[in-house]
Amino acid sequence: MRSITKLNLQYAHRFYNFKGEAQYLHGHTGILTIEVEDTVNPGVNMVFPCNEIKKTAWNILQNFDHALVLRHDDPLLPAICDVYEKQGIRNGAPNNLMTGPAFHTELATAYPECRLVVTKETMTVEGMIKIVYDLLKDKLNIVKLTFISGDNTASQEFPSTLSMSRCPCCGIAFDENGICPKCGCRRNSN
Ligand SMILES: [Zn+2]
Ligand SMILES: [Zn+2]
Repeated sequence: MRSITKLNLQYAHRFYNFKGEAQYLHGHTGILTIEVEDTVNPGVNMVFPCNEIKKTAWNILQNFDHALVLRHDDPLLPAICDVYEKQGIRNGAPNNLMTGPAFHTELATAYPECRLVVTKETMTVEGMIKIVYDLLKDKLNIVKLTFISGDNTASQEFPSTLSMSRCPCCGIAFDENGICPKCGCRRNSN
């Protein structure tokens, strides 16, 4: 069965060199739907608690929220960094608190200190699905991602690759030592 969660990301981007209005800087509220598959954990009668899926995803994906997402070769990138630098916010600001851990993958690099994500490819809805899967595939058994941004929607199914052993009391995955990070109970301790 599947547990399904949704999260919103508000961001600015543009399609550099695209022959249309989207080549101009603009913003969206993007809606990401994450579908996680596993057996139903009989203890809690859930695949996975949706708020825990959201927490795991948000920890990383908050770097896209209130962020500017630009392709690595976009000339706006050095221009924006220059403005941020002169304004003194390039390396952080006291009220820039909603920052996730900086990440660097083949497809995207996050600079949480200035709410910037630099991508290898144009950040279309399709591009975002590739980036998100790459960031989360080792943390969640994602079998489908859907991303809606304005009038655009993309969705992709993925093979089931992980099966997690989960706490019968809380429903979350045991850590590498077989201990529940939430309630502290041990795997197979009955
Ligand atoms: Zn757009
Ligand atoms: Zn537990």
